[in-house]
Amino acid sequence: MDHQSLANRLIGGEKLAIAEALELISTPDEQTFELLAAANHLRRRFKGNKVRLCSIVNAKSGHCSENCSFCAQSGHYQTNAEVYPLLPAEEIAATAKKAEEEQQATCFSIVTSGRGVNTEKDIAEISGALKMINDTTKMNRCASLGILDRPTIRQLKAAGLKKLHHNLEAAESFFSNVCTTHTFAERVETIKNAKAEGVAVCAGGIFNLGESLKQRVELAMALRELDVDSVPINILNPVAGTPAAAKHRLISPLEVLRLIATYRFIMPTKDIGLFGGREQSLGQLQPLMFIAGANVTLVGNYLTTSGQSAEQDLAMIKALGLEIEKTTC
Ligand code: SF4
Repeated sequence: MDHQSLANRLIGGEKLAIAEALELISTPDEQTFELLAAANHLRRRFKGNKVRLCSIVNAKSGHCSENCSFCAQSGHYQTNAEVYPLLPAEEIAATAKKAEEEQQATCFSIVTSGRGVNTEKDIAEISGALKMINDTTKMNRCASLGILDRPTIRQLKAAGLKKLHHNLEAAESFFSNVCTTHTFAERVETIKNAKAEGVAVCAGGIFNLGESLKQRVELAMALRELDVDSVPINILNPVAGTPAAAKHRLISPLEVLRLIATYRFIMPTKDIGLFGGREQSLGQLQPLMFIAGANVTLVGNYLTTSGQSAEQDLAMIKALGLEIEKTTC
């Protein structure tokens, strides 16, 4: 396959076909760098030389009623993840301020464990945090709060919510292997609710759970169809005690890079990032995630695991000749 010609066709406005996506994601190791070069071309065409940095706070941890097989916070599994109720609004806003000042992050997400946020008390606290972040930083305000209905999203938007993070997690045909306490359709509905309320959407998935390459493409096509704004890619970082950790197999860095590149080809104009598991899955090849087409990443720690230092991330981006995006998404 001529990856460069294919990239040029997409720049001309064509959409990648499923068969083409399957061919890209199945690229042999020895041809993977040609694929990455073309994905890099697409990233530069649509995103310039800018990298966007996101930061998150685990604002409510553990005790979740859901059984997502990869998640340290599920109440169904015995893990060492911390358990605590919703943090006060002041503490959430102070974390955002720190991420802006010390990590150059421009997007901040309030993440809570649980099926959804449905008590008036929690919604009021999160609304308070959104207002404080709006008043004290220039950051884009994002939240990841599980399954939400339209009135709740409307209420949060009125408090300053700009973007809702809600991963589809896995392809519909694989979803029941990942979670049985809620459905793929419920996740889609929350995304549609956010879009209907005029809130931007960040939605991606978690990979290396046993899904096939075809199912990785299936998930990307579902995200393209939903026209989400940002697509976070997470690679399983196995946590002892979860079912996913028990079945974990190593994924090669080149396989991860092919996944990112294929997503860039499927959604050339979108923000695409490698988030959870990047240090473990890419190792020495971490900088190549940007060459593979990523233009976003997470600085600082993940929800229940630590990332490399913000200084290391900033140095890596600088060494590649890339710049940190200063404007919010
Ligand atoms: S991913 Fe979210 S919904 Fe699923 S178990 Fe973890 S906290 Fe609960």
